[in-house]
Amino acid sequence: MGLSEELNGVLVRYDEVGLKSNRVRRRFENLLIRRVEEALDYHGVSFDRVCRYAGRVVVFAEEPGDAARASASVFGVASTSPVVARETGFDGAIEFAGRMGEEVLDASTSFAIRSRRVGKHDFTSMDVAREAGAEVQRRTGAPVDLSGPDVEIFVEVRGGRALFFTERFDGPGGLPKGSQGKLVALISGGIDSPVAAWLMMRRGAEVVPVFLDSDPFTDATTRGRAVSSIEKLAEWNHGPMRSYVVPHGKTLEALLNHGECSLTCVTCRRMMYLVAERVAEVEGCDGLITGESLGQVASQTYRNLRAEDEAVSLPVYRPVIGLDKLEIVGRAKSIGTFDASTEPATCCTVTPHHPETYASLDEVRESEGELDVEGLLDTALDGAEVVDMGARTAAAVGEDPG
Ligand code: ATP
Ligand code: MG
Repeated sequence: MGLSEELNGVLVRYDEVGLKSNRVRRRFENLLIRRVEEALDYHGVSFDRVCRYAGRVVVFAEEPGDAARASASVFGVASTSPVVARETGFDGAIEFAGRMGEEVLDASTSFAIRSRRVGKHDFTSMDVAREAGAEVQRRTGAPVDLSGPDVEIFVEVRGGRALFFTERFDGPGGLPKGSQGKLVALISGGIDSPVAAWLMMRRGAEVVPVFLDSDPFTDATTRGRAVSSIEKLAEWNHGPMRSYVVPHGKTLEALLNHGECSLTCVTCRRMMYLVAERVAEVEGCDGLITGESLGQVASQTYRNLRAEDEAVSLPVYRPVIGLDKLEIVGRAKSIGTFDASTEPATCCTVTPHHPETYASLDEVRESEGELDVEGLLDTALDGAEVVDMGARTAAAVGEDPG
């Protein structure tokens, strides 16, 4: 039997979950196992089971390569590797490392054995590395290069078992979905807000996207971008996300007819936050996520953010507040939301020529004056569409998602 038929599992590694106390770690591991199962289902990868094995989370699957790629898209996962897991002692481990070397090396590829050992044994991990290295060399003639090898062969001995692997897929890290509650994410159709939502998803939050549709002051292109970026986030969610599209045109019209023109962007954001807070109430969310970066545009100065925050009592999380635009763009590209966020679209047509950058709360309140805030919120939410976005089938792993 060739080695590839024996590649019968996937080692799933996590970082932060492992730092928790035993009790919390157990709970997070269980959650992680569930999320890995969901990711495999979402990507159409069949598997026997996901479980703890030799002190690790392991997926047993027919196609460990596909399973490793799919598992590497789960929040909480640091990296994954297709592995061969065997019950074996020292000699068996050395022999198997030699066979693995034969499979992946030839005389011109350099290699290194990386060994680890957990449990009580009468040999050290150095012994494993030395003996396995000699065995691989004997079988293949490949040169050892410990500092910059072409191929690394990992041998992990845990109790009476050994795990062998050569490949590693990077995961997003963070914490498993559902370990940090539920938050509303304000998604605008721009580059920043989907990145902000993703960063909080990576920290384990479940996210309910909300888009405020300013039609007729924006057109369908803006909405299209927001929907496309939510669909991208749904891929990371491994399933559709219940999302809200809330009409915002009437509110914006009222704001334009009402108060101080230079404050419109601030009062507009305040109304958006209030809508999001209403959605949070309905959905049982404990905070809001927005994509502001300090000083990026007029509505995002420290002073204006203070006035915007004051509108709501829920905490507003802004994970990209300290990032430069280029860093946010880089992240948008790596998580796959950039293209959705840069489809051609028209901007808001009523942005003031000289927006206030140093709003005072008194002025903002005065500007909102007799505005029927509750009435506007009621109307907006009555007109909300609640849609499961991203319900289409996922691309098979390894296929170009485009
Ligand atoms: P982005 O790049 O995320 O679109 P932006 O730089 O255009 O944001 P603003 O328009 O000031 O910035 O918006 C600040 C934040 O307010 C956004 O990141 C988003 O979270 C929220 N927001 C703005 N417009 C909308 C909208 N139409 N629907 C939902 N949320 C919005
Ligand atoms: Mg922005």
